[in-house]
Amino acid sequence: MICKFKVKRLLNKYFNLYPLSVNQTEEGIIAMAKNEKERILVINGFENYGFSGEDVTIKGIKYKVCGLNHENAMALRKALSFTAPSRVLREQRSFGLGDRLGISTHGHIKLFKRYDACPIFAQQSIRELNLTERTYEDVLDCVSFNVLQDGFKKPWGADGDHLKHEDEIRYALSLGFTMLTLDCSEHIKTDVLGMSDEEVLSKTNLSGELKNKYLNQDIKVEDKAISFSEVELARCVLTYSETIEFAKKIYFEYVDGKEVDFELSIDETSTPTLPVEHYFIARELSEAGVKLVTVAPRFCGEFQKGIDYIGDLGQFEKEMKIHVAIANHFGYKLSIHSGSDKFSVFEIIGRETKGHFHVKTAGTNWLEAMKVVAKCDASLYREVHKFALSMFEEAKKYYHVTTNINNIPDVDTLADDKLVELFDNNDCRQLIHITYGFILTNKDSKGNYVFKNRLYDLWDKESEEYANMLVKHIGRHLELLYKGMGK
Ligand code: ZN
Repeated sequence: MICKFKVKRLLNKYFNLYPLSVNQTEEGIIAMAKNEKERILVINGFENYGFSGEDVTIKGIKYKVCGLNHENAMALRKALSFTAPSRVLREQRSFGLGDRLGISTHGHIKLFKRYDACPIFAQQSIRELNLTERTYEDVLDCVSFNVLQDGFKKPWGADGDHLKHEDEIRYALSLGFTMLTLDCSEHIKTDVLGMSDEEVLSKTNLSGELKNKYLNQDIKVEDKAISFSEVELARCVLTYSETIEFAKKIYFEYVDGKEVDFELSIDETSTPTLPVEHYFIARELSEAGVKLVTVAPRFCGEFQKGIDYIGDLGQFEKEMKIHVAIANHFGYKLSIHSGSDKFSVFEIIGRETKGHFHVKTAGTNWLEAMKVVAKCDASLYREVHKFALSMFEEAKKYYHVTTNINNIPDVDTLADDKLVELFDNNDCRQLIHITYGFILTNKDSKGNYVFKNRLYDLWDKESEEYANMLVKHIGRHLELLYKGMGK
């Protein structure tokens, strides 16, 4: 019989191990190491899990040295359950960390070892996948490997974010994503907003059942009253009937009885979700047997990408109270999308939800990565920045922003050590925020990436700098949310 101690001792001696990655079970040992240029898995035992790699024998003991590919990621998730996502959305509080680059989890782990909010490390929309030319396999695998590397044993989730179509849903769920965010924007009838009351009433035939349920009723959610006029009910029906049917269909086909949590997203519309609308949708779905875990309404004011909240804080707080009451009444959490950098509302969110929230961030992790570039390689940053400016008009088609690029100073007039201050400039933040896809996929006439490889090389070299910046920046989000909870 082979001595386990010897297996471990040789591993330590012959491989450049990540100390927190060493895991020993009855089945054998799995660890992560770094050779001259890349990370590898080194495995002893775990014969029937499907790991593939090169066999090496050291002093009579066999090890398998495996590359970090999808096949080995799948085997790893089977072998060590903490490297697989789990259903964390039902927990008291959770936090989404869209990592467009596949390099942010190291910093996120450092931070989330200190907080009880459950991280959703893998969170990506199809739009982001397309713009970065990544796959869901890659998004999930990057997280699994980083979780192993840093020995993160707490549960974490994977969110198929803003999915609109069934093929996208099947794709995410087939890989084991544990959360489905259904984007209903294609089913919300926004043209109802422009209709007169007469038109709305003439187009709707309210059933007796609906009238009995919603009209002239003393409807209470917690201590708050909600009342519908006939025209308000008719507007709800016209605007959201198709959304409700769509959500029911997806829920019963893909979520009910499966290992996945369901978030309903109705935030991608041009006007805030009214309390009557939120209540109507929640009640119709709950009566149909749809178990909502989170709902993302569209809040008042503006949640633009990568910058602070724009709007009336008093009104936000007032509307937050009623949305929270509706969510509590039906037994789900509120989900706050585009949560990156919304520092002026986090305390309100923490307080009003009593710490029962899901908050999503994404682009701000990318912005911090670009800040590393501005800090550590001024000439590369200037190149990327000028390219971003040239792509700005094109990029605006994908994101709603009010950026004025005339407010961004000319990078050639700034000293190297001033470049990083561009990330305090909201117009620059948004410029870099929305051009990420163009930057990462730009190729020269020979088909070679212009920036991608140089950027990744720099991020690899500065990985600790980046991790520390994320701890500080995402940490500021959490600090404020928790500060609100304490009140
Ligand atoms: Zn959203």
